[in-house]
Amino acid sequence: MRIPSPLFNCQQATLLIERRADEVLPSTTRFQLWAHLRLCPYCRRYEEQSALIDRQARAAAQARVLSDVQLPAPARARIQRALEASSGNSAL
Ligand SMILES: [Zn+2]
Repeated sequence: MRIPSPLFNCQQATLLIERRADEVLPSTTRFQLWAHLRLCPYCRRYEEQSALIDRQARAAAQARVLSDVQLPAPARARIQRALEASSGNSAL
């Protein structure tokens, strides 16, 4: 019987924390990650911050944008110039 090592390195652990948000990890991997998080305060902090960013990003994505919000005129002019310069460079 092969005993899984709980000692991921932190790079592997943080990658798995992110993958865990999108997919179901195998049970052995989940156990190894759990064990790493029990032992590693840095990855526990990463996990907390990742969850906070996820909550904030979801809230921002669902927030309503007021219809009368507009960019300031200088910003619109700057973007317009950038678009014109860009389309000039890639004209067909
Ligand atoms: Zn770690």
